[in-house]
Amino acid sequence: MFPPTKRKRMDDSVKNQMRSEGVKRSHSLWFEDGSVILEAQKTQFRVHRSILCNYSKVFQDMFTVPQPESSAMVDGVPLIHVIDDAVDWENVLGIIYFGLKMHEDHSIGVLISMMRLGHKYQFDDIKTAAVQRLLKEFPTNFVEWTNDAASDPHRTIMQNDAYFSRGHEIDLINIASEIQFQQILPVLYYILLRDRPLTEIFDGTMRKDRTVAMLAPETQRILILGRDRILRGTIAHTLAWFEGDITDDCATCQGKRVGNALNVAMGMLTYDVSVALQDTASEIVAGLCNECKEEAETEMALGRQQLWAELPSYFDLPSWDVLAKFNN
Ligand SMILES: [Zn+2]
Repeated sequence: MFPPTKRKRMDDSVKNQMRSEGVKRSHSLWFEDGSVILEAQKTQFRVHRSILCNYSKVFQDMFTVPQPESSAMVDGVPLIHVIDDAVDWENVLGIIYFGLKMHEDHSIGVLISMMRLGHKYQFDDIKTAAVQRLLKEFPTNFVEWTNDAASDPHRTIMQNDAYFSRGHEIDLINIASEIQFQQILPVLYYILLRDRPLTEIFDGTMRKDRTVAMLAPETQRILILGRDRILRGTIAHTLAWFEGDITDDCATCQGKRVGNALNVAMGMLTYDVSVALQDTASEIVAGLCNECKEEAETEMALGRQQLWAELPSYFDLPSWDVLAKFNN
C-alpha cells in the first residue's frame, strides 16, 4: 500500500498545475485589494465583493451564505468559477469599474454582454441601461423607423463593422429572445433578412474570434416563415397601388405602371424583403410624371405603414402595443 497522504498531495499539485495552465489575469480588472477572484474561461478578474453586491442581487445572496471551507482560494481570496464568456465579464466589469462614461460608445457587443450577465446575475441597472440603449437603436414605431438610419439599406448600423461585428446580430436576437425582450425583434429580424444571406440563418455567422453564432431552430423557422409573409405583405400593402388606377388617366404614364410592376416583381425575387419597408427603390416609380409619382409615393407610404403594423405578426409576435409593455 502506498501512503495515502503523500499520494493526495501529489494529485493536488498536479491538479493545481493543470488548472492554472493557460490561466491569465485580466490586465485592467485585477485589483490588488480585491476581495474575490472571478474566473471566466481562462481569464481571472480580481474585484471587490462589496461592489458586486452593490450591483447584483445574485452576488448579494451568494456572499451572505458562508462559503464552504473546501472552496478554492488564490492568494487568500476566494476564487469563483463562472460559466460565461470572459469577454462578457470584461465588458460588464469595465462598466462597473470605469463607469457609464463609455456608455455612449457602447458597441452592440458590450450591450449584448450587459444583457447576458445583467439577466443572469441580476445586474438590474446594467441590463436596463442596455435595454434603453437598444430601444433607441431599433425603432419600435413607424415614425422612428422612417426617420432612422436603420431603414436606409445603405447606412445601417449592421453594415457598420466598427459598431456591429459579425455574428452580433445573431447573438443579439438570441439574448433578446431569451430574456423576452421582444420589442426589438421585429426590426432585428427584418434587418437580418434584408442584409444577410439566407445561408446565415441556417449555418450561422463566424464571429471575429472564429466561433460561430447560431440561431435557435425555432428562430430559423420564424425567420423563414416571416420572410414569406413580408413578401406577401409587400404585394398586399407597399405595392398595392400597382393594382389600382394611378396613371390610368395620364397620357404620359399609361402602361408604365404595369411595366414597372413587372420589373419590381422580378427584382423582388432577388431583393427579397428590401422593398417592403424602404422608400428608396426608385425603379418602382421610374419614368412616371411628377403628379403620378407623388400619388404613387403617397400610396406606398400608406402601404408601408400598414405593413409595419403587421410586421410583428409576420414573426408570430404580439402587436406593437403589447410588445411595448415589456418590463425590464
Ligand atoms: Zn403621369
